[in-house]
Amino acid sequence: MVNTRTPLIAGNWKMNLDHLQSIAFVQKLAWSLKDAKHDYTAVEAAVFPPFTDIRSVQTLLDADKLELGLGAQDLSAADSGAYTGEVSGAFLSKLDVRYVLVGHSERRTMHAEDDSVVAAKVAAAHRHGLVPVICVGETADDLEKHGASAVPVAQLHAALAEVPSSAEIVVAYEPVWAIGSGQAATAEQAEQVCAALRSALVEIVGVDAAAATRILYGGSVKAANIASFMREPNVDGALVGGASLDIDEFASIVRFPHHVGT
Ligand code: PEP
Repeated sequence: MVNTRTPLIAGNWKMNLDHLQSIAFVQKLAWSLKDAKHDYTAVEAAVFPPFTDIRSVQTLLDADKLELGLGAQDLSAADSGAYTGEVSGAFLSKLDVRYVLVGHSERRTMHAEDDSVVAAKVAAAHRHGLVPVICVGETADDLEKHGASAVPVAQLHAALAEVPSSAEIVVAYEPVWAIGSGQAATAEQAEQVCAALRSALVEIVGVDAAAATRILYGGSVKAANIASFMREPNVDGALVGGASLDIDEFASIVRFPHHVGT
């Protein structure tokens, strides 16, 4: 398979930064990347702010013609109606949101989102022209009982049950034990699971779509370890939590091709 995939560095802010803070943050991040002459066609960068920030960030990106991508952290499986507190993919599309996280482990565990909810949300994203960033990953317990790949691969099969093979998706392999723990997987561990996920994609969507799909690694990524992950053939970027809230650190992660000797 020829690799034509543009790496994606995605910053998941989680429940951090209000809409005023988000404007200052995105401005500084964009300046920092501009100063460094960052080439967004070589490495795409996107931020995933809380819902209440999205309109502010969209307005800024649009007004200043910034090349940062915009993502949301969740969406409703439904399109509209009596779903108090939910946010429709239709509304996100109208705000020029391109990506949406689906199945993040914090949603799976704290909001009891099982594989069928994840599949319905992936389908909703597709209906509204959003690219779902489908998060899969094993817990420490799964790792011990089933090895690293079995659970993420099963989650990926389930997540894609309701969309056509032509649907554009991004997959994020995030071992749950590595998220927010400071203990990242090794590059070899990440590659092993990302390769298994790509093989699963070959079965589900075919060789060409599998070759075109970006698979990210997530879990305690920082500037000091990003280059090691990006050397692996099946790792096409990173989903970054904590380190995405530090402008210099995140900009440095985005600029991983310039890291030397790491
Ligand atoms: C995440 O929440 O998706 C994540 C990868 O977090 P962290 O980078 O902080 O481990």
